[in-house]
Amino acid sequence: TREARWEMQVGALDDGRRLVHLSDRTGSHAAERMRVDFVANASHELRTPLAAILGFVETLADDKAGGDPPTRRRFLKVMDDEARRMGRLVDDLMSLSRIEADKFRAPDSPIDLVRLVEEVRATLAASHGNRGRDLTVVMAQAPPPVVGDTAQLSQLLHNLVGNAMKYGKPGTPVTITLAPGPETMVQLTVADEGEGIPAEHLPRLTERFYRVDSGRSRALGGTGLGLAIVKHIVERHRGRLDIASIAGVGTTVTVLLPALSSNCHGNITQGA
Ligand code: ADP
Repeated sequence: TREARWEMQVGALDDGRRLVHLSDRTGSHAAERMRVDFVANASHELRTPLAAILGFVETLADDKAGGDPPTRRRFLKVMDDEARRMGRLVDDLMSLSRIEADKFRAPDSPIDLVRLVEEVRATLAASHGNRGRDLTVVMAQAPPPVVGDTAQLSQLLHNLVGNAMKYGKPGTPVTITLAPGPETMVQLTVADEGEGIPAEHLPRLTERFYRVDSGRSRALGGTGLGLAIVKHIVERHRGRLDIASIAGVGTTVTVLLPALSSNCHGNITQGA
């Protein structure tokens, strides 16, 4: 449903005939439009916490309004939360721009996904957002190493497992599965038993700042950029991404990544 856009140039030949040149500008127009929307959305997302912080600074500066210690502490807590939200947003914006800048440079490190998954699982299982989750890794058969960028694949795992923890019901399990996939790919899935996503939202989830429920995403500390980052990382790795979900039942995200080919030698590296 993209808006078609044509550019027309009219010229005249020496014999008086007219020459009309039509060029299809639909693609570049859509890209320009997306860029403008993105800058507007990012500015709005930063402005909202900034306005809250400035509002509280003004109140605290007024001796009468922000006087008693419990009120001051409450205001300072809100300011701290909002400043941290801005920090997360800036970090995610920086990540997106770095991944995009690297778009045409294929990642080339051999990575042991089994070890990377275990590192991320252990970090998130111990994190305070865990809320009684059992984070399990299932692996019937160890998959071969993949070719990738350690920091980016670690971020992909943090975002997917983080979402499964955020949108899963407290106490329900999160299951990470690793297996050899089709066509010399490695398959990674992250499944939760959470609130799920209504079907009409699925095609738009990887758009920047797209959220099913904005209030809920914000309350849980989301920036609305997590899945956009995942999509860009998968694209840079020449992989595939699929999100399947049933509202009220749960969500399963599947990522296919190219395995390291047998004729490619190298040491398995793992980032610290
Ligand atoms: P956010 O920072 O809001 O979590 P994401 O880009 O990671 O942003 O996800 C976009 C939206 O997709 C979320 O706001 C949420 O509505 C939905 N979503 C993502 N993962 C899940 C999940 N595992 N279960 C339910 N909803 C999800």
